Amino acid sequence: MVSTQAPRPLVPLAPILSAASFRRAAPVRLPSLLDAGPARLVTSGRIAIALALREMGVGPGHEVLVPAWHSPSMLPPVLWRGAVPVFYRLRADATIDLEDLAARIGPATRAVMLTHYFGFMQPVEQVRALCDAHGLQLLEDCAHAFIGRYRGRPVGAVGDYAIGSSMKFFPIHEGGALVSGRHALDRVKLHGAGAGFEAKSALDALEKGFAYGRLPAARAALWLPLRLKGALWKLVKRRGAAPALAPSSSDSSFDFDPAWLDKRSSLFSRAMLRLMSPSRIAALRRANYLRLDAALRGLPGIRPLFPALPDGVCPWVYPLLADDPERLFARIDAAGVPVTRFGLPLPGSAADGACANSAWLARHVLSFPCHQELREAELDWIVGQIAKALQA
Ligand SMILES: *Cc1c(COP(=O)(O)O)cnc(C)c1O
Repeated sequence: MVSTQAPRPLVPLAPILSAASFRRAAPVRLPSLLDAGPARLVTSGRIAIALALREMGVGPGHEVLVPAWHSPSMLPPVLWRGAVPVFYRLRADATIDLEDLAARIGPATRAVMLTHYFGFMQPVEQVRALCDAHGLQLLEDCAHAFIGRYRGRPVGAVGDYAIGSSMKFFPIHEGGALVSGRHALDRVKLHGAGAGFEAKSALDALEKGFAYGRLPAARAALWLPLRLKGALWKLVKRRGAAPALAPSSSDSSFDFDPAWLDKRSSLFSRAMLRLMSPSRIAALRRANYLRLDAALRGLPGIRPLFPALPDGVCPWVYPLLADDPERLFARIDAAGVPVTRFGLPLPGSAADGACANSAWLARHVLSFPCHQELREAELDWIVGQIAKALQA
C-alpha cells in the first residue's frame, strides 16, 4: 500500500520517448494497421476519417452510421462533408447492436463507421456482409487499435478504409493514418507542413521524454536546441498571434481543422513509426493490462469492462466499470492518477438519447494507461491509489 507521505510519481498518460522505445525483441509478433494496405500518414485520426469519407464520395444529403458511443472528434469530419451522422446502438458489453445497425440503413446511407473500442475487435466480418448487401462502404475506426491481429489478418484489413491515431500508441506529438487494403489512395496527395511544424513535432516528443526523466543521456545534447526553441517562441508570441505550428488535435481538443487535410505527418513521427516495433509495444501493453487486471479484478465497486484479453489484441488502455464513477474519478484524479473517460458526449450532442447503453458506458467506464513506457512501480502505484479511493 502506498502511504500518503510517499512522493507522488509523475505517471505519463500517453507513451513518451525513452531509450527503450527502440528495442525490438518481443515474445509475441503482431502486425499493425500499416500492414493492412497502402497508407497515408497524416497529422491525426480525425483528418484520416475526413479523407476516408471524401474518398468514399460522402457528401451533402448522405447519412453516415456512427456508433452512439464515440469520440466527439469523430463527428466534425462527417459534418465537414455536409453529411448527417445517424447513431446506432451498442449492447451493454460494448459490442455493436447489429440489428439496430441494420434497421437504421436507409436510402441516404452511404457509409458505416465501426469503432474497435480499446483495441478489442467488433464483429467486423458481419458488418462487412451487411455493408456488401446494401452497397455501403465500411470505415474501420482503429483509433484504439493501431496494432493487432483478428482472424489471421492485421487490424483494419476488412473495411474499405481504416483509420488510426498514432499518437495513442507511439511517443509522438502528432500522427494519424489512413489505410486501405481495397482501394487505391492515389488521389490523396499530401504536402509537408513546413519547417516550424517539423521542428515542433520532434522537440515536443523529446521534451516530454525529458519531463518524465526517460531520456537523461540525450538531454545534454539537446539542452541548447530546447533553450533556443523557448527563446524563439517568446519572440513569436511577443510579435502577435503565435502561428498554429501543430494541429489542435495534438492537445486533447476535439476540434477539426480542414487546413490539415493535405498535410503529411512530420518526418519525426514517420521515422518513429518505422523504427519502433509494434510487437514490442503490444507485448508490453498486454503485460501491463494484465498486471492491472490481476490487481484490480475483485475489488469492490469496480469490475473489468472486458472478461478477458483475447490473443491478437493490443490494448489502448485498461477500461473498468465503476459503480460510482463520479466519486472514484474525483478521488483518483485529485491523487494525480492519469485517468481518462472515453466518449462522454459534449453538451447538446446529437447522440443524446440515441442509446441507453452508450450513455451508461460513457458514464461508468474509467480508463487507465497500460502503455509501453510505464514501469511496474507506476502501475502498482495506480492500483494502490484506486484501492484507496474505493475505501469508504
Ligand atoms: C482519438 C479518437 C479518434 C480521433 O483520433 P485523433 O488522432 O485524436 O484525431 C477517432 N476515434 C476514436 C474512437 C478515438 O478515440
